[in-house]
Amino acid sequence: MVRPRKDRYVAFNPEVSYFKPRGIPMFELEEIRLTVDEREAVRLADLLGMAHEDAGRQMGVSRATFGRIVQQARQKVADALINGKAINVEGGNYRIIEGPRIFKCTGCGYEWEEPRGTGRPEKCPECDDDKFYRVPVPEAEALRERKSYTRSRYSGRKNHC
Ligand SMILES: [Zn+2]
Repeated sequence: MVRPRKDRYVAFNPEVSYFKPRGIPMFELEEIRLTVDEREAVRLADLLGMAHEDAGRQMGVSRATFGRIVQQARQKVADALINGKAINVEGGNYRIIEGPRIFKCTGCGYEWEEPRGTGRPEKCPECDDDKFYRVPVPEAEALRERKSYTRSRYSGRKNHC
């Protein structure tokens, strides 16, 4: 029996989803399908330079699984670049993250929330370490509900009324 794969969390979904080499007629063009979660893996590991451990946590998968996803994605991108194929980004097992943006530092354990649209923070505001990850949404929502982290910026708001 095949176990259904768990959705991977994807925090970024750009409009552009088709890449095509110039000057090759469509009927001669070979196409590679890159899944949305594979593209997210490339973004986290190669564009943001995150460690597989942290990136996996952010996508809701193990380090080993993340390693396999990113490996497969790189192989496809390389094939397209070297052999002149188109890349079509679609499908896969994923869920777009739209919940609270709560980050957790793996160095000191500090948790904090960033407003939407501010991009990825550069470092942990507490210890200046750059080893932190975004807490997956279901967990982040639970954290927000419980307001269980006392040292964060976010929990400071609740004391007003
Ligand atoms: Zn820290």
